[in-house]
Amino acid sequence: MSHLVSIDAAALAAGQAAGDFAASSAAARARLLRALAEALEAERESLVPLADQETGLGLPRLNGELDRTAFQLRGFATELERGAAHRVEDDPAVAGAPPAGRPRLTRVRVPLGPVAMFAASNFPFAFSVLGGDTASALAAGCPVVVKAHPGHPMLSRKTAQIAHRVIEQQGWTEGVFQFVDGASVETGVRLVQAPAIAAVAFTGSFRGGTALADVASRRPRPIPFFGELGSINPVIVLPAMLQRGVEAPAAALAQSICQGSGQFCTSPGVIVVPVGDDGDAFVSALSKALSTQSPHGMLTEGIRSAFDRGVSAWAESPAVRGLLAPARRDAVAPGPFLGEVAARDFIADASLHEEAFGPGALVVRVASNNQAIEVLQAIGGSLTVTLWGAEGENEEARALVRAASQIAGRVLFAGVPTGVAVTGAQQHGGPYPASTQPWSTSVGYAAMDRFLRPVALQDAPAWLLERQGVPC
Ligand code: NAP
Repeated sequence: MSHLVSIDAAALAAGQAAGDFAASSAAARARLLRALAEALEAERESLVPLADQETGLGLPRLNGELDRTAFQLRGFATELERGAAHRVEDDPAVAGAPPAGRPRLTRVRVPLGPVAMFAASNFPFAFSVLGGDTASALAAGCPVVVKAHPGHPMLSRKTAQIAHRVIEQQGWTEGVFQFVDGASVETGVRLVQAPAIAAVAFTGSFRGGTALADVASRRPRPIPFFGELGSINPVIVLPAMLQRGVEAPAAALAQSICQGSGQFCTSPGVIVVPVGDDGDAFVSALSKALSTQSPHGMLTEGIRSAFDRGVSAWAESPAVRGLLAPARRDAVAPGPFLGEVAARDFIADASLHEEAFGPGALVVRVASNNQAIEVLQAIGGSLTVTLWGAEGENEEARALVRAASQIAGRVLFAGVPTGVAVTGAQQHGGPYPASTQPWSTSVGYAAMDRFLRPVALQDAPAWLLERQGVPC
């Protein structure tokens, strides 16, 4: 019970801090974000080994992830300094009768209020306590209440202590950043129900995300739920690509499928390959390249057993031909899995469109460009679609790009989908279930827009206009 009371207290403190934080200057919040980045880097020697101890992701990867997290915090600071949070659209008054005549209207943006942030398991820095959701919410002027992920509890606590220290040093009230831990469904539900919470940011499973989205929508006053719930990231290999050789792309794809043991939201889960000899050669090269990969152990037992269940379901499907056997369940690390299925069977069986989070993929063999498009339409929502071999403009390429853009937040024409650059142009989202709010992104500087709500000020007094979009 006392645990639940502490969640309420955290949300309440965030609610009490929200007004002043919303009215703070962009420059002050930029200083806060830069100080958080600096503090993370200063504590690298203690944070990275702790992260490795709890996640087993390895020092090189975790050092790189800490760099990315600090880069991201500073990037949002730069965006604030450029005026991104307080953009104003001003339409002067026009004399005369409507519709041409009108009052002066000034469109500004106000922060939503406290954001409940559910840290992800698979990026203990970049999508966790001081990751992109926290950075973008603080940049927007919203206090954050972090729900720690139980996969890295000690790292989460230590990172939160660093944040608390920086907040205090900078003279902010402690409600600006709150932290709750405790591995339980009850914790998350209580947080989303807390009256002071104004929005939720979530990265995790379809099951957990839909349950929490339901809680958010059943509140007396429902709140926005920004959830990233899974993605299978199809890679379409076109005939033009196959003519350039199969070994190098197959090796790159195998590496991407196994990167981080497949625990990337952008991991390629479906590879669409034309039927015929060239396609056969590519599938055989991919299978060979995958067989040489040795994925490391997975983040939690829950994630591992979900992967084993997903792969078993694929392997047991009469429509799927196994190309690489699933690993034994008692093996410490999962083995890569590759199966092959005809497009018609894939399209007909919705269970084959579900994400198996880990180092596995299905090859879907297509007889035509139109069938590749039907595969994309059956998938319906994905963070990414990769099109290999669409460099030349023709009707087929245009149709594929259109179909890919309709189902994905990011369409790649080279490279692999794992690896998500933090920039202004980034879009990490997409139709459901990739995101519950497909017009929003959870990576890149536009992520801040999720937490800012437009308000039109009509005939506003001079003192308010002089604030140039900074809420009062
Ligand atoms: P998860 O089980 O969804 O947990 C994420 C967070 O949500 C945790 O804090 C968890 O709290 C909370 N939660 C889960 N179910 C809940 C519920 N019914 N009510 C309230 N809170 C709930 O995700 P995970 O443990 O990180 O990984 C499990 C699976 O998620 C993976 O196998 C994978 O399929 C998927 N995943 C996807 C992504 C992605 O990028 N799309 C990233 C990571 C994981 P407690 O644990 O404290 O209960």
